[in-house]
Amino acid sequence: MNSDADSTIEPVTIVGAGIAGAACARVFHEANVPFRIVDRGRAPGGRMSSPELHGRRVDLGAGYFTVRDQDFTTVVADWESKGLARQWANTFGILKPETAPCTTTGPVRWATPNGLRSLVRNMLDGFEIEDSTELTELPDGHVVVAMPDPQATRLTSVPDAVDYDAVIAVACGFDGLDIPFRDAAFVNDHPDIDFVVDDGARRGDGAPVLVVHTTSERARQHLDDPDGAIAPVLDALRELSVITTQPAWTHAHRWTFAKPAAQHDSNFALDERDGRFVGLAGDQWCDAGVPRVESAWRSGTDLGTALVQRLSL
Ligand SMILES: Cc1cc2nc3c(=O)[nH]c(=O)nc-3n(C[C@H](O)[C@H](O)[C@H](O)COP(=O)(O)OP(=O)(O)OC[C@H]3O[C@@H](n4cnc5c(N)ncnc54)[C@H](O)[C@@H]3O)c2cc1C
Repeated sequence: MNSDADSTIEPVTIVGAGIAGAACARVFHEANVPFRIVDRGRAPGGRMSSPELHGRRVDLGAGYFTVRDQDFTTVVADWESKGLARQWANTFGILKPETAPCTTTGPVRWATPNGLRSLVRNMLDGFEIEDSTELTELPDGHVVVAMPDPQATRLTSVPDAVDYDAVIAVACGFDGLDIPFRDAAFVNDHPDIDFVVDDGARRGDGAPVLVVHTTSERARQHLDDPDGAIAPVLDALRELSVITTQPAWTHAHRWTFAKPAAQHDSNFALDERDGRFVGLAGDQWCDAGVPRVESAWRSGTDLGTALVQRLSL
C-alpha cells in the first residue's frame, strides 16, 4: 500500500500505470488516500513506452507531447527543471508520394532524453507498483480503471465505450542517415505509413534510428504477426526517398489499442456500484481537443480529485 495514508479511508486500487493512472496516484498521494497500483506490463508507462533496443532507449509509443493544459504546464516545468523533458520542435516535414517534401509548423512538441516512459517513472517514484499483474476482473474495494475502453470493458461495464485504432511502430537502426526532413515528418496519402521520426534528433543523442508508425489499415493486416509490417514500411520509406540503404536492424511493436477513434464528452466517469466507487480514466476521456498524453494526464488528475472529494464526504 502506498502513501502515509489516512487509515479511516478504504484503499483504492488503480488498475493501469500509464500516465492517467500515475496522475491519479499523485492526487491520492497528496491527499493521503491509501492506494495500490497494478499493471500488467513489466514496467509502468503504458503507451509511453521506451524499451532499450540495441543499446539505447527508443520511443515506440507516443512520439512526443504537447502542453496546452495550464495545470500540465506546471508538471512539465518541473520535468524540464530536472532535465527529464525538453522543448524539441514546432516544425515537422510533410511527405507525400510523388511530391516534393515541405514543412508544417504547429505547437511546440516536447521530447525526453531518456524516453517518454521516464516521465511516468518520475511520477510514480517512491510508490510500490505491482507490475506483471494482469487483472481479469475488478478487485474488491474502490477501483480506478485507467486504460483504453476495449481493455477496460474486460473488467467492467463502460458507458458508450469508444473503439481504438491500431498502429504498428517499426524502429530501424542504420549505420548513418541522410533524410529529407528535420526531426519528424507526417506522411500524407500513403496507404502504409503516416509518421516518421528521427529518434536520434528527438532524444538528442543523434543516433541514426528512425521510428515509423503505420496507418491503422496496414496495422490491422499484421496484428497477428507485427514483423510482417516491416517489409511494407521499408518499401514506403524507399518510395518516399527517406532511405536508400537497408537498415542494420529493425524492431516491430504492435499497438492494438493505439489511439481512440472517438472520445467521451467528459474527462472521467465515477459511479458508486455495490457500495464502492468505480472510476474510469484514460486518454479517451477527453472533453476538449484530441486525445493525447496531456489529456490522459488531465483525465487521471480530474478523476483522482473527484474521488478524493467523494471519499472525504
Ligand atoms: C504509436 C503511438 C503514437 C502516439 N503518439 C502520440 C503523440 O505523438 N503525442 C501524444 O500526446 N500522444 C500520443 N499517443 C497517445 C499516448 O500515448 C496516450 O494518449 C497516453 O499514453 C495514454 O495514457 P493512458 O494512461 O490513458 O493509457 P495507457 O498508457 O494505455 O495505460 C494503460 C495501462 O493499463 C495497463 N493495463 C491494461 N489492461 C490491464 C489489466 N487487465 N490489468 C492490469 N493492467 C492493465 C496497460 O499495461 C497500460 O500500462 C500515441 C500512442 C501510440 C500507441
